[in-house]
Amino acid sequence: MLPKVEFEVNEPLNKFCHISVLYSDRLPDELAKGMLGNKAYQAKHTNLRTDENLERLRHAGIISPTAWYSTARTLIRTKSLDEAIASLKPGRPIGQILNIMKQDVHGYDDIWASTKPRLEEYKQRFVEEWSPISSQVLSRLSLLTKEDWTTTNDILVNFVDCLNGGFAWTDSVAVYPFPDMDVEKKFLAHELSELMTPTSTVIRILADAGLDESISHTVVDMIAFFSVKDFVKNLDRKGIKPNPSYYPMANTLFPLLEGYSKDPGAYPNLESFLKGMVPLLEQYALP
Ligand SMILES: [Zn+2]
Repeated sequence: MLPKVEFEVNEPLNKFCHISVLYSDRLPDELAKGMLGNKAYQAKHTNLRTDENLERLRHAGIISPTAWYSTARTLIRTKSLDEAIASLKPGRPIGQILNIMKQDVHGYDDIWASTKPRLEEYKQRFVEEWSPISSQVLSRLSLLTKEDWTTTNDILVNFVDCLNGGFAWTDSVAVYPFPDMDVEKKFLAHELSELMTPTSTVIRILADAGLDESISHTVVDMIAFFSVKDFVKNLDRKGIKPNPSYYPMANTLFPLLEGYSKDPGAYPNLESFLKGMVPLLEQYALP
C-alpha cells in the first residue's frame, strides 16, 4: 500500500522556521549551516531579532537536531502551537522557541500576510504537477530501495519559504517552493527518498570499507533522481541530476545507479548492490 501525499500551508510551522532561521546562530551547526542557513532571509529580517529573544535562547540550553525535527513534525501533524507545547516535557530547550512563538513575534504578521497567499498559490500549481505522478514516484522509490512504505499515515508535505532546502521526518516533509516545477519534483523526491533509503545500512557498508559516510547522502539523491527522472522535461537543468559539487562521488556512482535502476531485480536486496559498488568507490577514493 502506498501512502497518500497531501500538501499544506501551515502558519505555526512557517513561524517556527522563521524564528529558527532568524536565530540560527543559537542552534547547532547541523541545522544552522544547512537548512536554517538562509543568509538572504536572515539579512532581510535581521532587524526583527531582539536582545530579549537572544537572551532566552542563550539560557535555553542546547537544542538537539532531533528535538528540532520532532517539534517541527508535531507542528505539521497538529497545526497547533498549544498542542506542540503540551506535548513537550517542561524545561526542554526547544520549548524556548515555542515560548517565543507564543508571544507576539515582532513583525511576523506582516510577513505571513504576504507569504500565505504566495504559498497557497504555489501549492495549487504544484499539486497539479505532482498528483498524476505521485503513486509512480512512490512505487519507484519502493522498488529501488527494496523497502515497503510502512507509514500508515498520509505523508504531509508543507511549503516553507524561509528554509534553505527542506527536511523529512517520519511521515512529514517541509520543502522550499522552488520556482521551477521540475526542480521541485526532484527536490520532493529527495525528501521522500530520505524517508525510504535505509541510511544506516548504507553508512555501515561505507564505514566497513573505510569510505566517507557522507556518500550515503549521494545514494539518497541518486535514488530520488532515478525515481523521478521520467517525469521531468529537462534532465540537464540545474537541480535535477545529483550535483557532484554537493554530493560526494556523484559522477562515480551515477552509471552504477543508472544500471541498477534499469534492473533492480538483478539484486536480491539493496545491500548486495551497494556492496558491489564498494570496489569502484575504493578505487576512486584513493588519495
Ligand atoms: Zn537530504
